[in-house]
Amino acid sequence: MTTHPKVSTYSMWSLFRNCRKACEYRYELGLTPREKDPNLSFGSLIHDALQTWHSTRDLTAVLELIDRACGTRASDEGVRRDWHLARAMMTGYAGRYPTEDFTVVALEKTFEGPITNPATGAASRSFVLAGKVDGIVRIDGDHYILEHKTAATIDADYLERLWTDFQIAIYSHYVEQSLGIPITGVIYNVLGKARLQQGKGETEEEYQVRRADLIAKSKTGTTTAKRKLPESDDEFQTRLIEKYADPAMFHREMLYLSRDRFAVLRAELWELTQAFLDARRRNVFYQNTAFCFHHNRPCAYFPICRSNGNPNVIDNLYTITPPHEELRAAANEPAF
Ligand code: SF4
Repeated sequence: MTTHPKVSTYSMWSLFRNCRKACEYRYELGLTPREKDPNLSFGSLIHDALQTWHSTRDLTAVLELIDRACGTRASDEGVRRDWHLARAMMTGYAGRYPTEDFTVVALEKTFEGPITNPATGAASRSFVLAGKVDGIVRIDGDHYILEHKTAATIDADYLERLWTDFQIAIYSHYVEQSLGIPITGVIYNVLGKARLQQGKGETEEEYQVRRADLIAKSKTGTTTAKRKLPESDDEFQTRLIEKYADPAMFHREMLYLSRDRFAVLRAELWELTQAFLDARRRNVFYQNTAFCFHHNRPCAYFPICRSNGNPNVIDNLYTITPPHEELRAAANEPAF
C-alpha cells in the first residue's frame, strides 16, 4: 500500500533545526498554546489587509476588514491597540504607494512540491514541501516574490538580516518548479510598527501629586496645570496617521536570488528530512535549551519543558490543532 507523503513546511523544518523537541510538540503531537501570540495575530491581520489592498486598491474595504477583524476592540485593550495600529499603518501605506511599479500576478499563492535527494534526484516518499508566498509580481517581464514584513525598527541591521531569510529562497525555488514561473528575486515590503501608545491620562491622585510638585517648584506658589485626560480614539488615530505620513515608516528592499543558493538549501532540506526520520524512528527529539528564549521571549512550549512534560500543564495550557495553519486559508486563492 502506498501512502501519500506527509506535508511539511519551511516553518516545520526551521523549528526542527532550532529545537527538535519544539518541533515534536507542534508537528508530531499537534500541540499549540491556548493563548494566541499577539505578535502573530497582528502579523496575520496586516497580511489580510495587504492582500485586500493589493487586490482591490480600495482603502475603505481594507479599513472595514480591519474593523471586522477587531470586533472586540471596545472590551479588549490588546485588540484595540492592534486596530489602531493596523488602521493607521494601512492608511499610511495607501498614501505611500498610490501607484506601483509592479503588476500583481498572484496573491497568497500556495505551492507544493517534492523534496529530492541531491545525490540521486529521487523524491522523498515521506515528505513533500508546501508553502504560501504573499505575492508574485512582475516588473519589465521579470517575476519577483513579494514578501510582507512588519518590523519594530527598519535599519541597516534589519535589512542586512534579510539575506538570512532562507525560507523565501527555498520557496522561490518551489514556485519556479511547481508553478513554472522563473523567479528573479524577492521584494521585501517592510512596514514599520509605530511605538506610540494611546495616552491613558492620569488618576486624580497622580494629578494631585504632580500639581503639588509644580506648586513647590513655582516662585508664585501656584500652577495652571490641569489633570491629563485619557487620549480619545480619534486623537490617538490622528497622531498615529501623522506618524505614518513619514515615508521612513515603509521600505521596499529588492534582493536577487542566486541559483547556487537554491542547491545548498535543497541539500539542507534533504538532510533535515533524514534527521527527522531518524529522530522519529528512535523516538528521540532532543531539547535545545539555547533556543528557549530566542526573540527575547519564552518559547511557546516552555511551560511543558519546565514542568518535565506534566500532563496537567499540557491539558490546561495547550490544545491540539492541525499543523500548517498558514496554508489553510488559501485553498481558493485568487490569481490575477
Ligand atoms: S522550551 Fe526550550 S527546550 Fe523546550 S521546546 Fe522550547 S526551545 Fe525546546
